[in-house]
Amino acid sequence: MDLRDKEVIVIGAGISGLAACRFLLSRGAIVTLADNKKRQELPKEAQTLFLRGVKFIAQRYVPCTLPWHLCIKSPGVSPDIMLIQILRLAGIPIWGELELAYLYTKAPFIAITGTNGKTTTTALLGYILQHAGLKVLIAGNIGDPLIAHTEEDYDYIVAEISSFQLEDTECFHALGALFLNLSPDHLDRHGNMDNYRTVKARIFRNQQENDFAVLNYDDASVASFAKDTVAYKLYFSLEQKVAPGVYMHEGQIYICDNKQPIPVISQDHICIKGRHNWQNAMAALAAAWALGIDSTLAAQALSTFPGVEHRLEFVCEKDGVTYINDSKATNPDSTEKALLAYEQPLVLIAGGYDKKADFLSLMKLIKEHVRHLVVLGQTAPALLSAAQIVGYTCISYAESFEKAVLLANKHACCGDIILLSPACASWDMFENFEARGRRFKELVKGNTL
Ligand code: ADP
Repeated sequence: MDLRDKEVIVIGAGISGLAACRFLLSRGAIVTLADNKKRQELPKEAQTLFLRGVKFIAQRYVPCTLPWHLCIKSPGVSPDIMLIQILRLAGIPIWGELELAYLYTKAPFIAITGTNGKTTTTALLGYILQHAGLKVLIAGNIGDPLIAHTEEDYDYIVAEISSFQLEDTECFHALGALFLNLSPDHLDRHGNMDNYRTVKARIFRNQQENDFAVLNYDDASVASFAKDTVAYKLYFSLEQKVAPGVYMHEGQIYICDNKQPIPVISQDHICIKGRHNWQNAMAALAAAWALGIDSTLAAQALSTFPGVEHRLEFVCEKDGVTYINDSKATNPDSTEKALLAYEQPLVLIAGGYDKKADFLSLMKLIKEHVRHLVVLGQTAPALLSAAQIVGYTCISYAESFEKAVLLANKHACCGDIILLSPACASWDMFENFEARGRRFKELVKGNTL
């Protein structure tokens, strides 16, 4: 679509919505921005856009005439809001920022999805490709939104793709699609696991035989996506030898293409810790291999990639206690993986915004691995009742984040790890998980403890 003089409505004035407005203006479109905040409450960047001619309407306001040729919906906006439903009934195309970026970018996409590990694997694959000398845009939860970089030339775009973004794709095509794992998350938005799975399967939509898909062989529901794509399939597994694909055997990672397995790197030389990170490493390695990257170069990159902030991030050691910031653990599965990544006794801080997750299986693991649990936030009652069901009693309740860190400190002994891995989103207390992680680091590094 030639966007010049087209009327476009962007719904959601977050980072990606504002970047979409800037892109649309640069292409000569006439832009309206809708949001559920008042115009004057929107950030400075939005005010600059209004000065450049962007119009504003309140999201709940539905005009009698719909002048728009196109709607760009931000991932955080529910598809059920009245304005979207009316635009849809009027036959106005509704695209996400991903679709928009895809349609106006030349470089092929390597798309990474899954419930957990997207950012880490995206950053890692980007790092491997850059180490091999390629020009790569790494996009997702880290860095700028995709649409901010459409004018530049890249060899590849490596992008983490959430279920919310996949909801709004039609033409999006991935040269490579990586699917890491699937566990319950965002059920407040998707309703049930079947819907969540169906939305996630859209990552394979429009793939052809010349494309490739990387699937987790150890996760039955991910392996079953094989039937959803005609692309060349590679698997990764911690449990068994797979071909074509990448697997671990006796602590060594191999690439195997049906012929002779090639040893690449030992698990001890991978810089990021934990079995879940070995899985991320194997997925990235499989994709790099599919793209023709030399396995020695890939191994070098795996041995130096430092990980991503707020994901099992080492903060400091004080009086023999190690502090780890895993604020990005916003669902029970990611916290389970964090508990399994360490051998030392743990004091865990968990709880936050209520996404209606079930904490029972997490609590069973807490009972085995956690010396003391500090709960807080909206989900504290749900965590307490899960603890009661499994008979776990080493718990304290904290009325604030600051108290939670103090309590954790009180219960930790020399040699322990204090782990912030909340299993919940942060929105009941913080603007986002980054703010929560930063606050944790401030408290830990400050003089309050
Ligand atoms: P995402 O972008 O999918 O949210 P991140 O890489 O940001 O994934 O990691 C989110 C959380 O999940 C962190 O707590 C991290 O330690 C944990 N995690 C990372 N990789 C995996 C994985 N493969 N399986 C389960 N949890 C993981």
